[in-house]
Amino acid sequence: MARRVPHAQTLRLYIGGRWVEGAQGRVVELRSPATGGLLAEVAQAEPEDVRAAVVAAQEATGQAARLSVWDRARLCHRVADQIEARADELARELSEEQGKPYLSEALPEVHKTVEGFRLAAEEAKRLNGEVIPAEDSHKRVITIRQPRGVYAVITPWNFPMNIPTEYLAPALATGNTVVWKPSSYTVRCAARLVECMEAAEVPPGIVNLVYGPGSTVGHALVTHPVVVGIAVTGDANTGEVIAGEAAGKRLLLELGGNGPVVILDDANLEAAARCVSAGSFLNAGQVCSASERILVAQAVHAPFREAMVAAASAVRLGNPLDETTTMGPMNNRATAEKMDRHLQDARTKGAQVVAGGSRASGFPTDLFYEPTILDNVQADMLVFQEETFGPIVPLTEVRDDVEALELANRTSMGLVASVFTTNLRRAFFFAEGLQAGTVVVNDASTYWELHLPFGGRAGKRSGYGRLGGKHTLMEMTDLKTIAIDLHNA
Ligand code: NAD
Repeated sequence: MARRVPHAQTLRLYIGGRWVEGAQGRVVELRSPATGGLLAEVAQAEPEDVRAAVVAAQEATGQAARLSVWDRARLCHRVADQIEARADELARELSEEQGKPYLSEALPEVHKTVEGFRLAAEEAKRLNGEVIPAEDSHKRVITIRQPRGVYAVITPWNFPMNIPTEYLAPALATGNTVVWKPSSYTVRCAARLVECMEAAEVPPGIVNLVYGPGSTVGHALVTHPVVVGIAVTGDANTGEVIAGEAAGKRLLLELGGNGPVVILDDANLEAAARCVSAGSFLNAGQVCSASERILVAQAVHAPFREAMVAAASAVRLGNPLDETTTMGPMNNRATAEKMDRHLQDARTKGAQVVAGGSRASGFPTDLFYEPTILDNVQADMLVFQEETFGPIVPLTEVRDDVEALELANRTSMGLVASVFTTNLRRAFFFAEGLQAGTVVVNDASTYWELHLPFGGRAGKRSGYGRLGGKHTLMEMTDLKTIAIDLHNA
């Protein structure tokens, strides 16, 4: 904490187009979860830095709003070009900092980031208003979409390039300005993304970057009166704290999941096992749409479990920069400890560990976790009730479709669910009955594309609002109605 390490690169805050130290000059260390090695020291923002960033963002609102949509689209494409030109370097740094495998996950994430900026540019050009017929024959009524002003963007560490882009690109394309607070675990990715925006000549003040804990820096940002919109991806508890503090502001909350996957007795088991393996082990299970609870029909329980054990043994745990690695370390201690707690609780309550079940030995840090298969998981276990966010496949046997649906919905979360069946009627029974923002039929719960609407279902704790393509642009703009009288002029 707050100790200067000689020769380490310092990541500075970006305020009003300048890279600056925090007001008190404090720094913290940033270390790789894979090696424990020092990656950088990170300037820490103070409340006065947050205020300066908000002022810079506010001062830039006029300029951002005045840029034509085509100019903003060109800016987005230029940012995409910058990222594309540095893709390999950015992916290696992402892998080192976050822990996901460079080749199979980090590089695709960077490419999606490029696509995210290009998609926002295209969508902005088609963000049409309406001409609405009026009862009063003297009136002509149209609607337009306008930028809201200063947005707080608050992001997690699990997709440190992709998730910020889901907000930054639409904000830029629609003429909003941003103060961005990334997770403290993935600050270097944030700095690199902003470097690309700077190199693309995004005007000063349109994007500002501050680092520090959520409870202080995030809090100062969310509660600042000039911030009119808040876009957060994070844990359900974080979302609820922010929602409580942000009364009256526009909220876009993308929170946690506890994704049920239902495997029916008529499913293609080979495909189901492949997809659950992808859904549970991608990014070491640290995905909001991960396959977190597997509800498997009695008749296929045993062969499915065997297929999952084989899938777990095929995972190549290792240094994420090694191109043969398919799973890297978990990103941070708190998340690995949650996995420990959930496993301990499940064991105590009678679940059986049929593969993995503990931290892996022989690695430079203790954040490497064995891919784990847990059988006989019951609804009273933490692993069933809460988001585990680790490389785990918890299996629960179900008698019939009705029980499967009831158990799948027995959770406070409602983000993504999936079902495997070859019967169309049963597919629709689950697609319509599962309480989630997205239901995937016959593919991994982590199936996702940038332009598809994504978000939590009402009444659950997975957030509200929709990300994805035009949906984010609509969330981040005000719909204005303009009524014109033709006779009173
Ligand atoms: P987190 O909630 O701990 O942190 C997310 C961000 O919020 C960080 O930048 C953090 O500093 C900030 N923050 C925390 N408390 C705050 C406060 N009081 N005020 C302002 N900011 C605050 O989450 P995490 O561990 O970084 O990420 C993992 C979580 O994110 C998981 O629950 C996961 O499911 C969720 N997630 C959701 C989606 C989605 O699209 N729904 C996508 C990815 C991750």
